[in-house]
Amino acid sequence: QGDSKDYDSETESVCPFCGVGCKVSLKVKDGKVKYVEGINGPANEGRLCVKGRFGFDYIHHPHRLTKPLIRRDDAPAKGLNVDPGNLDTHFREATWEEAMDLAATRLMALREDDPRNVAGFGSAKCTNEEAYLFQKFIRQGFKHNNVDHCTRLCHASSVAALIENVGSGAVTATFNEVENSDVVIIIGANPIENHPVAATYFKQFTKRGGKLIVMDPRGVGMRKFATEMLQFRPGADVSMLNAIMNVIVEEELYDSQYIHTWTENWAAEKEHLSQFTPEAMAPICGIEPDQLRRVARTFAQAKAGLIFWGMGVSQHIHGTDNSRCLISLALMTGNVGKPGAGLHPLRGQNNVQGASDAGLIPMFLPDYQSVMDDDIRAKFNNVWNSEDFSNEKGLTVTEIIDQAYAGNIKGMYIQGENPAMSDPDVNHARAALAKLDLMIVQDIFLTETANYADIILPASALYEKNGTVSNTNRQVQRVRPAVTPPGEAREDWKITVELAQRIGLNWDYTDVSQVFAEMKLTMASLDNITWERLETETITYPSLSETDPGQAIVFGDGFPRADGRARFTPASVIPPDEAPDDEYPMIATTGRQLEHWHTGSMTRRAKVLDAVEPEANCSLNPRTLKLMGIEPGEMIRLTTRRGSIEIMARADRAIAEDMVFIPFAYVEAAANILTNSAIDPFGKIPEFKFSAIRVEKIEDA
Ligand code: SF4
Repeated sequence: QGDSKDYDSETESVCPFCGVGCKVSLKVKDGKVKYVEGINGPANEGRLCVKGRFGFDYIHHPHRLTKPLIRRDDAPAKGLNVDPGNLDTHFREATWEEAMDLAATRLMALREDDPRNVAGFGSAKCTNEEAYLFQKFIRQGFKHNNVDHCTRLCHASSVAALIENVGSGAVTATFNEVENSDVVIIIGANPIENHPVAATYFKQFTKRGGKLIVMDPRGVGMRKFATEMLQFRPGADVSMLNAIMNVIVEEELYDSQYIHTWTENWAAEKEHLSQFTPEAMAPICGIEPDQLRRVARTFAQAKAGLIFWGMGVSQHIHGTDNSRCLISLALMTGNVGKPGAGLHPLRGQNNVQGASDAGLIPMFLPDYQSVMDDDIRAKFNNVWNSEDFSNEKGLTVTEIIDQAYAGNIKGMYIQGENPAMSDPDVNHARAALAKLDLMIVQDIFLTETANYADIILPASALYEKNGTVSNTNRQVQRVRPAVTPPGEAREDWKITVELAQRIGLNWDYTDVSQVFAEMKLTMASLDNITWERLETETITYPSLSETDPGQAIVFGDGFPRADGRARFTPASVIPPDEAPDDEYPMIATTGRQLEHWHTGSMTRRAKVLDAVEPEANCSLNPRTLKLMGIEPGEMIRLTTRRGSIEIMARADRAIAEDMVFIPFAYVEAAANILTNSAIDPFGKIPEFKFSAIRVEKIEDA
């Protein structure tokens, strides 16, 4: 880093990676971001992790898309076969006029035949305004709700359970509230790697004597700070959580007054829990009854307890049930709506909260308003000056891919998503993308998904955008352009607006603030949050007045459900979709690493991050490696019922002996070739966290 004189300009924005939403100051020299400093946002107070501090230079990478591209008539068959350094073999450069004209003409031809020929994937890497416009593009332009984004792959089940039981899909307390907690549970999350700045608050919490209970099948880094570490069997969340709640019921440690005042269905929950004794559940979850009892007492007797969870909870076919248990645990102990207490699913991408709030979900319009409600649709049609659209829930990410594979969806508009890497059973997803008659990809790089595109529209990175984003804490923050997009690349919202105009929509936005103003007309969550305030403030929604910085804790005076009460929904034990057997005897789980972000399209093009973590790798217990005669650093073969990859093995004592952990950022050993596409029936989220797998030494390696 340099001193105060070594840059030409500085711009305040928000880190583009995880849901923590750290505020940054971008120092620019000669038209390029030279370095990044953390500044005093409410979620980071000046702190940054390695990604935020050193992972910015991808925006200047030579592989940035700078001109619109059209697939050549004589291009090879669609597949993962384009050299990102030489696009000429498959694509030719086009003017914006030609590319947009072709995109609009072909979209309209598909629409004319049947509007349901077309579906869209928006992006949590874009701003709130861009997410809003994208869902409006599909709903107004094609009259249906077949629009989704990566929330389907991360916290869809958490959101389903939260909406069902507390009436809102967002967190009930910010993570900074640990300052006021006595006990914190972190389950199925690895914040030291995936939400590193939030993890610093958790570590501080333990330093001042707070009791931390970590629950995870992997021995994640936070275990080193934990009062209790419960390394339970993969997929056994419900049995463990129900056993803990059974103790709270049996020992009458629950908060009767809170339950009576603020909840419903307690009698059914209580009755249901009676069968889940610690002794009965211990063999299933692998945690001793004594520890289950201890944890139950610690949490129930705390003055204030906060529960954080990640995708270890959500990415299961019983992900919604897992979240229902966590909600019940918080409700029965009165741990919602007061300082230091609450429910907090740690959101993954930097704007996945905002993109979900903005309606980039097939069953919900902005602010989680149901597409099935005639009055709600009428309200939107009034604001949009538009004819009505379908009252049927739309298709989700994996359903859209299945329908594309079946030939029922023929065209897709994909903005900043990478399903050719991120979807489960990704060979199936790639085959589906290859079948499309029309694929329009709007992105900053030739992603694996763009390999299959017919038309590629060069877009903008977050540090080139103007707009707002919303972090895991419900904090709405401005992002501002520090640099201009390279070449002819454009801000995403401008591309969507022009495409909308060309397919005949009545859009006349000339500034992104107009989009925000329109969002406020239908989104009560944005009440009292104005563009002007956001110039200087971060605002946590809901904000109760134009001077209120927002509510860090919600639901202290009732829940946004019909009768103002939250609900207990009992959860039963459902085993994972596929059990290990003789052929596939181990369990695979996937996730992220500290240095690499999601499918790696950005961080693998960031010099420092790529230098620290350059190679595809997976982690196994050293004893497992020894038994198999595998040395750490050796290439091994991993095979599931979906496919096979070869990848470098690492030793990690924190991994159970029958497990392998595989990061999903590496195209050369794509973890999602292996994963199971079975989905949770409520959240429709795939079971990324449990696949039966075979691990083999490569004999001639
Ligand atoms: Fe960026 Fe998340 Fe790291 Fe903060 S914690 S710097 S938001 S990646």
